[in-house]
Amino acid sequence: MTFKDLNIVEPILTALQEKGYSDPTPIQQEAIPIVLNKKDVFGCAQTGTGKTAAFALPIIQQLYLEKNQGAKRMLKALILTPTRELAIQINDCFKDYSKYTSVRHTVIFGGVSQKPQTEELRRGVDVLIATPGRLLDLMNQGFIRLDTISCFVLDEADRMLDMGFIHDIKRILPKLPKERQTLFFSATVPQAIVALSRTILNQPVRVEVTPVSSVVDTIDQYIYFVEKQEKKDLLVNLLREKKQKSVLVFSRTKHGADKIARALSGAGIGSEAIHGNKSQNARQRALTNFKSHKTRVLIATDIAARGIDVNQLELVINYDLPDVAETYVHRIGRTGRAGNTGTAFSFCAQEERPMLKDIQKLTGKHIKTASVPV
Ligand code: AMP
Repeated sequence: MTFKDLNIVEPILTALQEKGYSDPTPIQQEAIPIVLNKKDVFGCAQTGTGKTAAFALPIIQQLYLEKNQGAKRMLKALILTPTRELAIQINDCFKDYSKYTSVRHTVIFGGVSQKPQTEELRRGVDVLIATPGRLLDLMNQGFIRLDTISCFVLDEADRMLDMGFIHDIKRILPKLPKERQTLFFSATVPQAIVALSRTILNQPVRVEVTPVSSVVDTIDQYIYFVEKQEKKDLLVNLLREKKQKSVLVFSRTKHGADKIARALSGAGIGSEAIHGNKSQNARQRALTNFKSHKTRVLIATDIAARGIDVNQLELVINYDLPDVAETYVHRIGRTGRAGNTGTAFSFCAQEERPMLKDIQKLTGKHIKTASVPV
């Protein structure tokens, strides 16, 4: 199946070709016709499945067609997402896909000055990508009204709840028109998510791809059994020995991430760490350096890494195993994307054995044991 078969129109097709996307991913195949049909969607999909384009493409197409019929510019689509990194990433997608249309979009998030954001808004946009706090701020100051929204996207709903955004969401919802299309995405579907979705969606069509337990077959996974105090040397040795250009290292704690960065620097290996204690600017800079291959090694905590989307990420290293098995799947899912192959190494100390057991149980896969280089 091609994007043309999904009735995607010319200027958007050209932009997709330039991105090198030859065919729609499964979630795009399922969701695009439903969204173009103006139905509500309950999408169960994690990042890495192509879910951003699954909602961005039909939204852009709809707005483009309305504009061709003489529709004026006004705020028509709102995409709410939990983190700044995700917001920026979604905005980048809109930029790429709407390149040859006159659909305008902008992104707002907290932690930075609001002036450039309000100026963009004043110039007029069709699509707004926002994190909840800054959206409410700017609404309260009268910069944004949501009464012209016809399509509302709630992205990563489970993460929104985890991060405590439920109250913000509940304040935003009543400001949206009752008559609207709503697209709801969540990687996991606990009871609280089902309950929230019921208050937001109207006769949704459920779209589901790759349950969270499935690990892409294009990822080669290895486990290193090491003592905790040996992890540093193992990391240094692996980074010296392996040739991968981009390596994402996960640390369970912010403090741990900084320690790893210092150890690497002591061994003459350049790296940057991103976590919640770093300023928004520092995080953004580190991410840009990593994406442009200026920095080979990025060390991140789970929250900071959420949504990091790097093309050709070849290697993920779990310096610490995550407490929750699903997180393992999210972490290593950053590599082996879109047909590329990837590798994931995990360091497992004695006290982390129970976590490894959970991971093997969830993924139903045996992870190969690698021998520690001497
Ligand atoms: P997402 O799940 O939206 O975070 O997307 C995951 C990755 O897949 C991103 O790097 C996208 O740029 C890429 N991608 C999305 N759709 C396609 C497609 N149809 N073909 C190839 N790559 C895609």
